[in-house]
Amino acid sequence: MAEELNPFKIAQQQLEHAASIMKLDKQALAILREPRRTVTVNMAVRMSSGEVKTFQGFRVQYNNARGPCKGGIRFHPLETIDTVKALAAWMTWKCALADIPFGGGKGGIIVDPKKLDERELESLSRAYVRALGNIIGPETDVPAPDVYTTPQIMAWMMDEYTNIVRHNAFGVITGKPTEIWGSEGRKDSTAMGGMFVMREAAKLLKIDLKKAKIAVQGFGNAGMYAYTLSKKMFGSNVVAISDSQGGIYDPDGLDLKKLEDAKKKTGSIDGYKSKNAQKLTNEELLELDVDILIPAAIENQIKKDNADRVKAKLLLELANGPVTPEADEILHEKGVFDLPDFLVNSGGVIGSYFEWAQNLSNYYWSTEDFYNKLDKFITKSFNDTIAMRKDYAGKGQKISPRMAAYIIAVDRVSKAMKVRGWY
Ligand code: GLU
Repeated sequence: MAEELNPFKIAQQQLEHAASIMKLDKQALAILREPRRTVTVNMAVRMSSGEVKTFQGFRVQYNNARGPCKGGIRFHPLETIDTVKALAAWMTWKCALADIPFGGGKGGIIVDPKKLDERELESLSRAYVRALGNIIGPETDVPAPDVYTTPQIMAWMMDEYTNIVRHNAFGVITGKPTEIWGSEGRKDSTAMGGMFVMREAAKLLKIDLKKAKIAVQGFGNAGMYAYTLSKKMFGSNVVAISDSQGGIYDPDGLDLKKLEDAKKKTGSIDGYKSKNAQKLTNEELLELDVDILIPAAIENQIKKDNADRVKAKLLLELANGPVTPEADEILHEKGVFDLPDFLVNSGGVIGSYFEWAQNLSNYYWSTEDFYNKLDKFITKSFNDTIAMRKDYAGKGQKISPRMAAYIIAVDRVSKAMKVRGWY
């Protein structure tokens, strides 16, 4: 039978699996299997040529039992409503596991932003907020950046929302530039959180990070900072990295300056040159003989047919949804320590929570404060996950870190729904 690759079906399968382990109430499961609200909008935007083009966008508000919906907006040519629904579900579990006062949401527009000029990008970003202005807000649903969206896009969106409500509402969106009260530290907080998790996992698995070989898939915000921070914080040897065009492998380690130069010159790291560097595909990168593998690009990268060839001891899911459920089982059986996306990349939304809290209180923290608090939050999530796994092991049941994290998150959301009288 063909493997299920529809992200929303995958999200539902994972939830059902967790529900059966934790014996979740059937009514709670029925509520949590579907988003509370799914909105599709069509936006007409005047291109620089004078022609008007129509773009389709989505916002999914998955669950708000514990607080306003929270989650990024993706600009992607292959965006689908089911991907956005899955990502909104994962945001719900991410915020609950991190124990921050948000529910889950996600947005997306079907567009290749590389094909738009700056003015068109601004018009589209503002059109999205005009279309959804009545359902987002600091107390209801707070968007943020995700794949191919930037702090500048967040600034335009905040400004458009302000035009609608007729007062500055900085807390409507996070991941903003610092000039308009984005937070110090938010830019690299996804990768920084991942680094704190890597530090804790390395302690547990007795991996010496100074000697560890690491491969990173992706050179966007998460992948690029994962690369620089693992070198800077731990002195690790990052031997491979890739972007959507393909990757580079150098057993002696990669040089940031050369990577950036190659990216600037050709738009891809493909042009990277050094004595021992070799080109490799995104698939080959996942199968390298490294200690730590960090998928930091997009969903469905490690699947049934390549999971068995993963050689890393530790897999840190910095992307959303990089491992399918069938691959998950194979990795678990092989003994790969696979830490789930909604734990590993939760530094992004924890950073967003700090930004939002600062916006609502109008009191701003130092960068040091930000990182210290981030470390505390995410290290606690890691420890909670390991403790839950131990609990089940004590009862004779071996569960994966993903299921342990799911059980914590689903339990928190269902308890909030129960006490509110939703079931
Ligand atoms: N897009 C990021 C994520 O998937 C951050 C979301 C947010 O900060 O709201 O976690």
